[in-house]
Amino acid sequence: MPDELLQRLRRFHDHIFPGVQDTFQALVKDGQHPTILFIGCSDSRLVPYLLTGTGPGDLFLVRNVGAFVPPWDGSAGFHGTAAAIEFAVLNLQVARIVVCGHSHCGGIRALYEGAPPQATNLQAWLELGREAVLPVQLSPEALRRTEQRAVVLQLERLMGYPMVRERVEAGAMTLHGWHYVIEDGEVHVFDVRSGAFVAASMAEHSGTGPYLSAGQAG
Ligand SMILES: [Zn+2]
Repeated sequence: MPDELLQRLRRFHDHIFPGVQDTFQALVKDGQHPTILFIGCSDSRLVPYLLTGTGPGDLFLVRNVGAFVPPWDGSAGFHGTAAAIEFAVLNLQVARIVVCGHSHCGGIRALYEGAPPQATNLQAWLELGREAVLPVQLSPEALRRTEQRAVVLQLERLMGYPMVRERVEAGAMTLHGWHYVIEDGEVHVFDVRSGAFVAASMAEHSGTGPYLSAGQAG
């Protein structure tokens, strides 16, 4: 039986890699210096490199169900996303952190419809989006608003990481909340001043903030 995945690996090595070999060898010789930490949902339809026009060495990526950020509580644990944030900020010294949710998100939908009972880790993980849930029946509009609210919630949690807060307050780092609409191919960016998501085609910036949680904002 032909192993199609093996064939793809061979095709990459034999036909694609020779065209990009110089890029990768330079990235090995000089090391990686990505300037963006991209925290995105694991959804297969969200393709960060396509959206941002970036390539090898440009994005430090961490992806999980829902594009969630666990709270920083100062304790050590097996937390892949928290470890990636610490590494990106302290070791790589990225200048931007993007949190990217998207339309038709199964993780956000599961906040309304629940997860399989045996998915105990998933159920616990989804709690990181719970505050974004609206007290309404699930509808396409409610789903979209919840997806966007969840992005803002994660930006607020990022500010709970001391190394993030320090750099944001010093003007050395910016936070970007994005909601990618798969069917339109357009990112809507969170504007902290208006508190709204604005289509990239209309926006004046690629999103920034919030620097304060809703309760603290003046
Ligand atoms: Zn998703």
